[in-house]
Amino acid sequence: MAEPFTDSDAEIRAALEAAHIPALLASLIHFTGNADHLDDFPVPVADITNMADEHGGIPAERQAAARDLAFAHLTRWRAAGYPALPRPSTAAVKRAMNFVAGGAIPAAYDAFLTAELHLDGLPTATGVTIDAPAAAKAACPVVIIGAGMSGLLAGIALSQAGLPFTIIDAQSRVGGTWWANRYPGCRVDTPNHLYSYSFEPAHEWPLRYSTQPILQEYFERIAAKHGLHQHIRFETRVESAVWDGHDWQVTVTGPQGTETLAARAVISAVGQLNTPKLPDIKGVGSFAGPAFHSAQWRDDVDLQGKRVAVIGTGASAFQIVPEIAGKVAALTVCQRTAPWLLPQPAYHDAVPAGKRWLLKHAPSYANWYRFALFWSLTEFLLPAVTRDAAWHHAGSLSEMNAGLRALLEASLAEQLADRPDLLAKSIPPYAPGGKRMLVDNGVWAAALKRDNVELVSDPIAAIEPGGVRLESGRLVEVDVIIYATGFSASDFLVPMQVVGEGGVELHDKWAGDAKAYLGMTVPGFPNFFMVYGPNTNIVVNGSIVFFSECSVRYIVGCLKLLVEDGVTALQPRPDVTAAFNARVDAANAEMAWGAPDVSSWYKNASGRVSQNWPFALVDYWNATRAPERADFVG
Ligand code: NAP
Repeated sequence: MAEPFTDSDAEIRAALEAAHIPALLASLIHFTGNADHLDDFPVPVADITNMADEHGGIPAERQAAARDLAFAHLTRWRAAGYPALPRPSTAAVKRAMNFVAGGAIPAAYDAFLTAELHLDGLPTATGVTIDAPAAAKAACPVVIIGAGMSGLLAGIALSQAGLPFTIIDAQSRVGGTWWANRYPGCRVDTPNHLYSYSFEPAHEWPLRYSTQPILQEYFERIAAKHGLHQHIRFETRVESAVWDGHDWQVTVTGPQGTETLAARAVISAVGQLNTPKLPDIKGVGSFAGPAFHSAQWRDDVDLQGKRVAVIGTGASAFQIVPEIAGKVAALTVCQRTAPWLLPQPAYHDAVPAGKRWLLKHAPSYANWYRFALFWSLTEFLLPAVTRDAAWHHAGSLSEMNAGLRALLEASLAEQLADRPDLLAKSIPPYAPGGKRMLVDNGVWAAALKRDNVELVSDPIAAIEPGGVRLESGRLVEVDVIIYATGFSASDFLVPMQVVGEGGVELHDKWAGDAKAYLGMTVPGFPNFFMVYGPNTNIVVNGSIVFFSECSVRYIVGCLKLLVEDGVTALQPRPDVTAAFNARVDAANAEMAWGAPDVSSWYKNASGRVSQNWPFALVDYWNATRAPERADFVG
């Protein structure tokens, strides 16, 4: 909640200069209890055509009026000694939501968005309580696998629910992917005021999109605040989890050797992107110099003055290349498929001190700022990446998708106007949305244009001791190779052995095609849960933190059934699971990433999209509010 302040009028005015105007105007309903003032302002435009303008096109003169109004309220509140403010009416809240969204939000979103606003105060991790005697809770120990964003979240949730838990992590620190990926330039591509736990907002984020060290610090701080370290076993691997009919026997190997922990439930929070993948190129391993994967960055390899090849042009390469281009002697970027770039001029921008002040002190401004970000990423790109069966144009899926393509092509054309050779290589053949779009503020194109950088699109024939052999016959001689070639994402939970009922091993059951109910539970594997499991990745909408919060809320709801109702072995019904996956597959086939001509980490070896959630965020929120008892046996 907003903290009282002693700042001068001039300081308040200066802070207001950095306000997100739609969020600021929405927040003023908390001073008045109504939304009447919104009549005096034009409704902002919140769509992809004005992504760079966070004021939604509200003209400068009305922005100034909004700041004046906010100044009057803030200073009156200060003069009155920071009294409690009226609860705005439900109608005023809805009106403010519509205003920030730039139009009427469908009623189906009301409960979801109202919950997301958290106007009644910060939530707990899940909002779920387990009402049972201490002994019943003590009898339900849980093993959480992974101390990354989702594993820490699960730990906090279990701690708040009063259940005993142990977190196992193979790394030496918390942070998961943010500790594993320490390559130069590593940063989040979702705005940070959204890429953070809803119950742990960080008003002091220094950057709009944090770099890896800042995110690492956030997760370390939150883990410490919630006392998680005493529950975590670092540098410890889960070898296997075996269901014995009542408990999971989880065998772990760590600094103290191998032991087996008994758990009533297991929560896997190992993520989808934890197994680096080297390319299937002839001769990988034969290079004479240092060669390493982006997620296994070698700080001991000094790139200064070296000839370097980066293989891949996905999200990791996209961040590495601009960072190292200025220090290496020569950089060859080997591109197999060009990525789509999503313009965001503010990608590397700092959060102005004034905005940080408002987040901390202006009543409910932080809620509305997060809401504005949340809505801007909720669903509005989803229709633009959905197939229209009547649309038959190569490289696009629908009229809207073609419009998006034109917008993105125009941005590339503008950035590479002076380099038609680069432009020709930089327009992806597939429809926008087929792969994750890369958040772009121009540093990629600027790096590619440097004299010491070459973008090579000839296919690679082999890796040789001296460098990269292209199919054209040319040998690109280099001193260092960086494989930014992604992860074995569809090999969920590898290399763990997970043995469920009847001695069935999970990977044998999956046979390379991982499926789960709502991404979390699998028939035959009682009390075994996954966060960020199959079909829970999002491509163009939302924040993965939101998804993890939904999953963990649902999982704690399942644990509640174990502890409160004495259920011993909860598992989803096979028919419910099959029907769910049939719906997911049908919907994924309609999405850009499901198109047959697109290959990506979203698909498994059989070509099925095993990673992505094809529906709206509100659908996952609704589906995960609490487990439906009828969906389960046990
Ligand atoms: P990726 O998106 O899977 O990209 C791998 C790249 O390597 C692609 O350009 C791919 O080309 C290329 N490649 C793979 N095998 C190859 C081969 N045999 N020959 C030539 N090129 C080959 O992996 P990533 O960049 O590590 O990103 C993975 C995911 O991690 C992202 O989609 C995102 O979800 C997440 N991530 C996020 C951030 C962020 O938030 N900022 C940063 C990094 C990663 P093709 O496209 O032709 O397959």
